[in-house]
Amino acid sequence: MSGDRHALISRLQDACGGEHVMTESHELATYRSDGLLHYRQAPLVAALPGTAEQVRRCVAACYEAGVPWVARGAGTGLSGGALPVSDGVLIVLSRLRRIVSVDLDDARIVVEPGVTNVAVSRAVAPTHFYPPDPSSQIVCSIGGNIAENSGGAHCFKYGFTTNYVLGLEVVLTDGTMVTLDRDAPGYDLLGAFVGSEGTLGVATKIALRVIPAPEAVRTLLAFFPDTVSAGDAVTAIVDAGMVPGAIEMMDRLSIQAAEQATGAGYRLDAGAALIVELDGPHEECISGLERLTALCRSAGALDLRIAQSDAERDLIWRTRKAAFAAMGRIAPAYYVQDGVVPRTRLSEVLRRIDELASQYGLRVANVFHAGDGNLHPLVCYDSAVEGEAARAEELAGMIIRACVDAGGSITGEHGVGVDKRAYMPAMFGEADLDAFQRLRCAFDPWGLANPGKVMPTPRLCGEVPGPYRQHPLERAGLAERF
Ligand SMILES: Cc1cc2nc3c(=O)[nH]c(=O)nc-3n(C[C@H](O)[C@H](O)[C@H](O)COP(=O)(O)OP(=O)(O)OC[C@H]3O[C@@H](n4cnc5c(N)ncnc54)[C@H](O)[C@@H]3O)c2cc1C
Repeated sequence: MSGDRHALISRLQDACGGEHVMTESHELATYRSDGLLHYRQAPLVAALPGTAEQVRRCVAACYEAGVPWVARGAGTGLSGGALPVSDGVLIVLSRLRRIVSVDLDDARIVVEPGVTNVAVSRAVAPTHFYPPDPSSQIVCSIGGNIAENSGGAHCFKYGFTTNYVLGLEVVLTDGTMVTLDRDAPGYDLLGAFVGSEGTLGVATKIALRVIPAPEAVRTLLAFFPDTVSAGDAVTAIVDAGMVPGAIEMMDRLSIQAAEQATGAGYRLDAGAALIVELDGPHEECISGLERLTALCRSAGALDLRIAQSDAERDLIWRTRKAAFAAMGRIAPAYYVQDGVVPRTRLSEVLRRIDELASQYGLRVANVFHAGDGNLHPLVCYDSAVEGEAARAEELAGMIIRACVDAGGSITGEHGVGVDKRAYMPAMFGEADLDAFQRLRCAFDPWGLANPGKVMPTPRLCGEVPGPYRQHPLERAGLAERF
């Protein structure tokens, strides 16, 4: 190991404590990938700071050594966003898990980035809750949610992470610490940071808005012969002006997988299931439920079930949220896709996915946020069969193209990361990509933060401003990376 690397590691050890800096390959194995297992790469070193000041010292050490770094929350990301850089530092934020303050009068909570999503709602229950609820919520971190602008089942009514972030403490790439405030005048830098996938700095403290818990919640589980009739029900519900808390759809294959995992009693002969949740004042929920059941019946529902208790509601949701992981019961491996289509074109795109699946000879399960038109096709494959993994990846790419062709987007909530960067030109022209790059360079002119993610091709920021005439990567002899 070179002297420079020794010096860097010893600075990280000084910052975090020796026991929180990993350099051995067996220690680094855990950090080789996020939830997207197709991409694997061990970092040079993983540092686990325990305070914001320790994070700052880690980032400053990287800056001074001209070494790239990647922030990591819980590693549940599905676009390879937390994939390490081989000669860089992985800054793991899982030890920063303190709830700093809870102020229910102001409907506000301040947390460290490693706090899990579900812990936020638990900290403000029972009077309040935090609406963005990724299916990974018991594990994923709020820092990761901020970086990905994560969504979830209840974002149809309540909006995404960005709608709930009030302020951030951020360590910038040169190791300075700043505060970004929702109410500050001037450019919305907080808005730029949310969804920036770890490329603008590290969030070390996060102020979130929470909202009062609804007076009542009613959950309907409706089974349909196929996804087309379930899609018709979704259109009818939205066209009727109803705004349910959540509208989620599962197709036959995902029902079969998830039912094996939870035994919730989902109908295995159904082609699709819809979960529709109403929340708000009690009377409104009751009357809304009547309208909802009528609309589902007209669209051809086979069977309608209304959760009669919190336990039944929990089981319905547990089954929906288990769908990704349950795929392991019906296929040795699967590839999660995350595309968006205009809601009115859901049925057409679902049909196109079926055609593509037959063309490629692979099974595709669909489980998704139907209200938002946010599809999650799960492409099943067996990597033991030669060429099948590559075919699955190609099919997943074709699905994303079908979403873009229908006027949608390459990602709804999982981010671009390393996985989707090649598709960015399908949505954006050169001028847009240049504007993104200029924003990125304004925060990180040295290209140290999460290099190789989001942008389709490696880019430099142009001349490095101010006193930093020599790019730190050049100083460190690493410039060829770009
Ligand atoms: C089973 C399953 C279900 C899922 N369901 C959903 C869903 O319903 N909705 C949804 O939106 N997502 C979902 N996801 C994806 C994933 O959970 C989210 O993207 C989540 O926000 C990632 O959080 P994390 O802590 O695991 O972040 P990581 O995977 O560790 O990192 C994600 C990105 O955030 C950056 N990052 C992490 N912490 C910080 C920080 N403090 N400051 C700056 N950058 C940071 C990383 O560099 C990386 O680019 C699911 C994943 C799984 C495995």
